[in-house]
Order: sequence, then structure tokens, then C-alpha cells
Amino acid sequence: MSTANKAALFQKLPSTDELLRQSDMQALIAQEGHSAVAESIRVVLARLRQEISEGQLDEKSLDLALGGLSAAVERQLRQSLSYSLRPLVNATGVILHTNLGRAPLAVAALDHARATASTYSNLEFDLAAGERGKRDIHVDRLFQKLLAEAVLPEQAGGKRVGTGASPVQVERSSAAVSTIVVNNNAAAVLLALNSLAEGGEVIVSRGELVEIGGSFRIPDVMSKSDATLREVGTTNRTRIADYERAINERTRLLLRVHRSNFEITGFTEQPGLDELVALARSRRLPLMEDLGSGALFDLRSVGINGEPGVLDSLRTGVDIVTYSGDKLLGGPQAGLISGRPDLVARMRSNSLFRALRVDKLTYAALEATLLAYVKHDHDAVPVLRMMRLSKEEIARRAEKIISDVESGQLQRLKLQLLDGESVIGGGAAPSAVLPTRLIALTHADLSADELNARLRAATPPIIARVEDGRVLLDLRTVFPDQDANLATVLASLS
Ligand SMILES: *Cc1c(COP(=O)(O)O)cnc(C)c1O
Repeated sequence: MSTANKAALFQKLPSTDELLRQSDMQALIAQEGHSAVAESIRVVLARLRQEISEGQLDEKSLDLALGGLSAAVERQLRQSLSYSLRPLVNATGVILHTNLGRAPLAVAALDHARATASTYSNLEFDLAAGERGKRDIHVDRLFQKLLAEAVLPEQAGGKRVGTGASPVQVERSSAAVSTIVVNNNAAAVLLALNSLAEGGEVIVSRGELVEIGGSFRIPDVMSKSDATLREVGTTNRTRIADYERAINERTRLLLRVHRSNFEITGFTEQPGLDELVALARSRRLPLMEDLGSGALFDLRSVGINGEPGVLDSLRTGVDIVTYSGDKLLGGPQAGLISGRPDLVARMRSNSLFRALRVDKLTYAALEATLLAYVKHDHDAVPVLRMMRLSKEEIARRAEKIISDVESGQLQRLKLQLLDGESVIGGGAAPSAVLPTRLIALTHADLSADELNARLRAATPPIIARVEDGRVLLDLRTVFPDQDANLATVLASLS
């Protein structure tokens, strides 16, 4: 198209002011305000200008576009005023899916956050004394209850009572395990390393120098914390003697990192946690473990073995553990540091702690989540409820959805039930899976990827897996009150 022709097309475009004076725009302004409407007009006109200059519009198609200008402005306005962050249905069966927001929160967590954050609260106010208080006491007391069992006699500073052959009882001090909260586990590791090892060396196995999604790399965090990484062993084999040899006068800390997203199998060796504890004690060095997921719930009860829990590590004698709030714990995004009170106190007094602290929403959600654990109300925490769902319960729901969908006229969509596996995700071992029943979808006219895209375009969007040319839906991660809508969307694809 010639420059002259384009100039003629540009001439046809109304000005923002002209449009603003139109009656339909005046109606929109009454609803949403002048500046939002003016902004939408500008965006729509800029788009048309762009299309003219790229030669995508001729006179006819421009006239058509101008005829629909008001509608285009309204669409733009609705889009700009709607939320970008939206709820969706997770039918992937991955319980802790980082891209999908990890742990959904317990209802009590949301209620508590709403109640305490929509007004003023005693976040940092000691009501009894009428003075400034500490924001971490609200959850530290609950962590103390939940982790009390982990306290070893020498850590507790408690005295052994009982005589002769009677079992040794331990009198526990109430503050035997301290916990502080920061923004996420990456921040927890940064704060712990900086507080315990700044200017010194930290010994870690080469087989544990992990990268977790979102560019969390232990060596990078280590250098930001001003500690020097002292790698020992090889990728597949590290022995306790390797740690022992690397200890020198600059050593400040022994570090164990949970291999969250990969496994090393075959010719491998890694010292037991108890061996590391013994070495750390004998050399008077603290031992820290970055657990990543950090369950407060015994995963063995749902058939998952070999995933260490926070209690297991503390009981074995690890001095400091770091873990996420929104992984297996099932709470809000947070980084938790639990362990020896003198070490945690050093972290609390580090100025980095102030920079990494969390807000009242996090404390409220975390407090309510922990209270569910204290009350043994595990089904109140969505990720725990999902882990505890049996294959039979999932199968029953899947059968109901299939029969609801098939009660309509099914022509092109085919649904099938299959055995499969749900994945814990979020830093539990890749092999941590639970047996499930899957709904497999195929369509006469749509490929699996196209079918999957249709599900994503539903309201709310449905996120599924594609495997072997089929779309797979796992109801383990779908809330039961989302089943009916899922069936309706599937029926609409038939
Ligand atoms: C997930 C994970 C982290 C990062 O935790 P965030 O809470 O996402 O910051 C660090 N270390 C390990 C071992 C993890 O699994």
C-alpha cells in the first residue's frame, strides 16, 4: 500500500476526544471513570494505527473495524479492569505445582487472614504488657508444640530423671526448638548461611549442589551469603571421611541439602544423617539441613517412604532445618528456620532478617495452618487431604463425572478410566507418587493438545496433562466442589 493510501486511512481514525464525547462512551465513563475509558480508547486507536502502518488494513476492513470501535473499547476496558491472577482447576494430579501456586490454603487460614488483616491486630503488640511485642511469637509457640517431640536431652538442657534400669525420661524446656519465619525457603537458606558462616567455610557434598526451579542454586545463594562453599566428594559418592578431611579452622558449618527434584541412583554413597550429626558434634560445628519441602506430617502414613520430615531431622540431631511454608506443610509462602535456640537467635538479630521478614497475612495463614496440625485436623489442610485421598474415592468421583458427561449426546469425545499416579511435587522426591484413577480423554476432531487448549480456555481454566496422545485428568488435585463444573465443560466438548 502506498504512503498516500495509508495517510488516507489514518485520516479516517477519530481522535480520542471525539470518541470520548460519544454517548456510549459517556455511559462507560459513568461506570468506570474518565481516565480508564480514555486509556482504553488510546490502546484501541494505537492498535489500529499499528495495523494501518503494517499494511494489515485496507479501506474496507478499516471501516469494519471503525464500526465496531465502541465494542472494542469496551472489551479493552473490561480486560484492563479484570484480574490477571485467577483461580483455576488443577487436574494435573501434581499436588504441589509451583506454576499453579503450590499449596492451596486452608479455609481457616483465609478466614484468619481476613479477620486479622482487614482491621488492626496485635501483630507486634503485647496485649498483657501494653508494650511492643514480637511478630514471631504467634507461630513460634505452635512450632514449639509440634516440634517438642524432637528435642534431644542435651539440646533441651533438660535433666534426666529416673534411676537404675527405669526408662530415661527427659524434662523438656519449653523453648528447646525455636522457629523464625522469612519470605521463602531460599531466603531462609540465605539468612541461615549468612548468620552462621559469613566469612567462613561451609562444607557440602558435590552430590547436593542442587538447582531448584526458579534459579535457586545453592552455590549462588552461598556466595550472596558471604560464605565460602567447600565442596567435598563427587557427584555420586561422598563419604563421611570427605567431610572430616575438609574441616579446618575456617569451617563454620556442615550443610546437607535435600535432593528435591532429582535422584542419584546406581553407584552412589552418601553418609547417613546420623553420621553427619556425630561428626558435627565431635568437631563442635553446627549441622544445617535444607529440607526444601519439610513435612510436619508423617508421609509414611500415606505410603511414602524415604522423605525426611522436619521431626525426623531434628530428632536425629540436626541443629538447624530450613523448609518452605507452601510445600508439604500446606500453608502460605514462607521460609521456616527451626532448630537450636542460640543459633536461631543469631539469625533473628541479623539485619537481613528484617529485610526478609513476612507480613501479617503470612503470619495469620501460617498460624491457622499450624493450629490444624496441633488439633490433628489434617483434612482441614488441602494438601494433606489430597495426599490422604484413596484411589477408590478418586475412582468414585471419576465414574460419576463420566456418567454425567455420557448422559448427554456424546459424539466425538471419548472418556476412559485408567490407573495412574499422582505426584507430590514441590520438592518431594520425584519417586514420591500416589496411586490414582485417571480420566483419559480423546476426541474425534481434536488432537490432545487442541483438547488441552480448550480445557485451558474454560472458565475457570482446567489444567490437565497430555500423555501418549491423550488428555489425562487426575481428580486428586481437583476440589470435589469443582467436579460438576468439570463435567459441564467436558460435556460441552462432546
Ligand atoms: C523448594 C526448595 C527450595 C526453595 O524454597 P522456596 O520456598 O521456593 O524458596 C530450597 N531448597 C530446597 C531443597 C527446595 O526443595
